[in-house]
Amino acid sequence: MNDWFTIEKIDDSTYVISEYGHWEQMHSFLLLGKTHGLLIDTGLGIGNIKTVIDKITDLPILVIVTHVHWDHIGSLREFENIAVHELDVNWLIKGLPIPLAMIKKSVVEKNFYKEAPKEFDIEAYSVYTGVPTRILQDNDIIDIGFRKIQVIHTPGHSPGHICLWDEERRYLFTGDLIYKGTLYAFYPSTDPHQFYESVKRIHDISNIRRILPSHFDLNIESDFIQNVKDAFELLYNNNGLKQGSGCFEFKDFRIHI
Ligand SMILES: [Zn+2]
Ligand SMILES: [Zn+2]
Repeated sequence: MNDWFTIEKIDDSTYVISEYGHWEQMHSFLLLGKTHGLLIDTGLGIGNIKTVIDKITDLPILVIVTHVHWDHIGSLREFENIAVHELDVNWLIKGLPIPLAMIKKSVVEKNFYKEAPKEFDIEAYSVYTGVPTRILQDNDIIDIGFRKIQVIHTPGHSPGHICLWDEERRYLFTGDLIYKGTLYAFYPSTDPHQFYESVKRIHDISNIRRILPSHFDLNIESDFIQNVKDAFELLYNNNGLKQGSGCFEFKDFRIHI
């Protein structure tokens, strides 16, 4: 295996597995409990993330996808236990409502900054479809053995988008709701108003120690959620968050509605 994946430890039982070779700079996370490993998202599908997981742990793996977009479910076919929120489940079973050719174009849209693993072949690239083993709902608790993770339904970027809250460690895994890049709420399947409500909801969580996003910079200051909330509030007050109004620039992030 080449070094497509970058593995970093957040603490002794929490890992981030990053794909810095791709312009999306995707992060997946592995949380180890006493009985299970919890893998949050499975990467872009350019390399096989399971080979990385197998080197870290022998624990049985439960995968939770923050939402069913191609860049988060890349290696999903390598895993048996898959959990997804009830409102994104149809995309997992029936496939995403965008043509495969368009997805492939996004995969190779920009040159890779690192050499892709030799098994990668864009011609053979496909997006996983299948039936999940567990359907998630808001506030579900996932117990991986002396470690409990809470599901927080945060729709807007996708109908079934979730954040995951590790209350004991006070880590918030924010998926595509919060990161230092362009926040997307312009596709037909997105909802800028729900996005704003979701940002408000996670803003109410107190004492977050680490905000762990699915893309780009892993160093996110504690006031970043406040800044995103303020930005949405400004757009809400100015144009009612109307889809199609464009891409708005703020400090360290943009909102595309
Ligand atoms: Zn997404
Ligand atoms: Zn994403």
